[in-house]
Amino acid sequence: MANILILGGGFGGLIAAEKLASAFGSEHQITLVSKSRKFIFYPALVQVAFGKFKPGDISFDLRRKLTDLRVRFVQGEVIRINSESRSVSVGKEDYTVDISYDYLVIAFGRSLATEKIPGFFEHAHHLLDVDAALKFGKAVKDFRGGRIVVGMCPGALLPVPACETAFALARRFETEISEKKISITVVFPGTVREAFGGANIYGELEWAFAKYDIELVENFHVREISKDKISDDKGQAINHDLLMLIPPFQGQEMIKNLGIADESGFASVNKFMQIAELPQIYVVGDCTALAGPKLAHMAVRQAAVAAKNIASEIKGEQPDEVYHHEISTIIDQGGADSIYLQYGIWNDELYRLQEGTLWSWVKSIHDRYWQAVHF
Ligand SMILES: Cc1cc2nc3c(=O)[nH]c(=O)nc-3n(C[C@H](O)[C@H](O)[C@H](O)COP(=O)(O)OP(=O)(O)OC[C@H]3O[C@@H](n4cnc5c(N)ncnc54)[C@H](O)[C@@H]3O)c2cc1C
Repeated sequence: MANILILGGGFGGLIAAEKLASAFGSEHQITLVSKSRKFIFYPALVQVAFGKFKPGDISFDLRRKLTDLRVRFVQGEVIRINSESRSVSVGKEDYTVDISYDYLVIAFGRSLATEKIPGFFEHAHHLLDVDAALKFGKAVKDFRGGRIVVGMCPGALLPVPACETAFALARRFETEISEKKISITVVFPGTVREAFGGANIYGELEWAFAKYDIELVENFHVREISKDKISDDKGQAINHDLLMLIPPFQGQEMIKNLGIADESGFASVNKFMQIAELPQIYVVGDCTALAGPKLAHMAVRQAAVAAKNIASEIKGEQPDEVYHHEISTIIDQGGADSIYLQYGIWNDELYRLQEGTLWSWVKSIHDRYWQAVHF
């Protein structure tokens, strides 16, 4: 019997567990370790901030779900991965357990590096977890007038919620914007195209931002934040009365310790989602060093590839399922201008961009469908 250990209970970890459980049933031991007992559907956090969903609507109990799949769940924080002894140390409340593996799937997600931007902690909102989204939502509710700045810091690899927040604010404050009492500025560290992994989405987004009177600022490298302004490395500044920025992302120390990390701490993988030097270890999701933005559907597809290859290896076959790195995302404006983008980061011949109310519905139907299937 093989021991398959999955680290992380987000999109990557959950899908790897589902696929492996459906391939093997209880034939092999599958264990998932996660810090939290909850799965959180992050793409709905913008709607949580704007009061469309409550936190309970976008999360479910992982242990129950995994028990149904006959996957063992261990709640705890992974503190060490020892690739030589093929074991992982997990910190529980007041003790540590070592769990051994034959195959390992690392799906830790990313960490936030807010400390890289002086003043972020004191003066900026973000919405990358439930508490932060609720706090930002309250600040929006209490906001009476002035300039709202939203956007991304350098190293923030998530453009979709920055755009969706700008559109949600524009809808919320439509009257105040037309009366010039409130203005909205969206800031990107490079070009819009770079933020979307090279996809040519500029025209559509520029048009949509202009339509909602949202000012677009590209190539603004946020370096420092104070109570009322953000400054870049060229000495330029933008004033703000309310600020929501996606902070820089980084990988985890444990990935660095395995000697497989790029300079930001993300894991380098081959096309089978394996670490080339440590082929029993697969890495999926936001903690991989793949180019472009980090998105849930990528984590899901990578996890499916890793699970298929592990299943092949267990059967004594060579892994042959290959991952293709592409963006497929909907930027929801809640109306006629919502955008669906599909773009091959490794193959720019794959490029599809469509606009229309349909995509707003598709996003909400897709989110509900995902929740109905997995929650
Ligand atoms: C506000 C917001 C909006 C988004 N919108 C979209 C969107 O519209 N479309 C889209 O495709 N994507 C979107 N995303 C991105 C998407 O949510 C991520 O790409 C996805 O969650 C990545 O999945 P993952 O499994 O790699 O990591 P996560 O989902 O972050 O899961 C990581 C897991 O690892 C666990 N973990 C971490 N460290 C440890 C440790 N040391 N020990 C034990 N467990 C650990 C965590 O508890 C968690 O369970 C959005 C994200 C946010 C925050």
